[in-house]
Amino acid sequence: MTVDSLVVTDLQVEFSGFVAVGGVSFDAHPGEVRFLIGPNGAGKTTCIDAVTGLTKATGSARLGESELLGRPVHKIVRLGVGRTFQTASVFDELTVLQNLDIAAGLRRRSASLLRSRRGVDASIERALEETGLSGELTRPAGVLSHGQKQWLEIAMLLVQDAKVLLLDEPVAGMSQDERTATGELLQRLAAQHVLLVVEHDMDFMRRFATRVTVLHQGKVLSEGTVAEVQADPRVQEVYLGT
Ligand code: ADP
Repeated sequence: MTVDSLVVTDLQVEFSGFVAVGGVSFDAHPGEVRFLIGPNGAGKTTCIDAVTGLTKATGSARLGESELLGRPVHKIVRLGVGRTFQTASVFDELTVLQNLDIAAGLRRRSASLLRSRRGVDASIERALEETGLSGELTRPAGVLSHGQKQWLEIAMLLVQDAKVLLLDEPVAGMSQDERTATGELLQRLAAQHVLLVVEHDMDFMRRFATRVTVLHQGKVLSEGTVAEVQADPRVQEVYLGT
C-alpha cells in the first residue's frame, strides 16, 4: 500500500491578531524522518495543531488528494493522521493491552467496518513488537517509564492505522537509551509512514533527522539536511547560538 505525502503550503494561524504561523510551507514523505525544529514559540506545535484540526488555519495541508484544513478532527484522524502530545495521553489505570484495545476500537469505528477479533489482535501484536512493549502487556500504563508511555502512545496510533505520525517532542524527559530506542523506532516506521517530529533536542535531531525545517517567529528560516541547516548562518545566529 502506498502512503501519501503530507504537503503543507502557506500555512497561517492567527490568535486574536497575533500571527503565530505566518505562511509556512513544508512537506514530509514516506521514507524520511522529518524534523521541525526552532526555538520556543517558533510555531512548531501550532503547525501540528493546524494540520490535525485543533486550530483554525488558512493555506493548505494536503495528504495525497485530500485537503485537511477545514475538516473536523475526527475526519482528519479517519484519513490516517495521528499525533502524540508532549505529555503522553494514555489511560494510566488501564493496562497496556487495554489502552491498545481502546485504540483498536476507535479504528474499527472510524473504518466503519468490524474486523475480526483475530485481525485486531494481530495489529496490536505488531504494534507491541514494533515499540518493544510486548513484555508490558498486563502492566498498568501508569507504571511505565516516561519513554514507554511515549511508545505506547505511538503504538496506539499504529493500531489505529495512522499513516501520518506527528510527534510533539517525543524524547523530552527520556533517558539516553530511550532516546536511542525511539530514534531507531522512527527509522523503522519511516518506510511505511510519513513522520514529522517536533523536537528541541538537537543531539537527537542530529542523529536521526533525514531532513529538517527550522522555524523562527512563525516562518521557515531554513530547510535541508542536518548538515545544511547547521551550516546555515541564519540558523546559527538565531538558534544554535554559535
Ligand atoms: P513552539 O511549539 O514552537 O514552541 P507554539 O506553536 O506553541 O510554539 O507557539 C507559537 C506562538 O503562538 C507563541 O508565541 C505562543 O505563545 C502563541 N500561541 C500558541 N497557542 C496560542 C493560543 N491558543 N492563543 C494565543 N497564542 C498562542
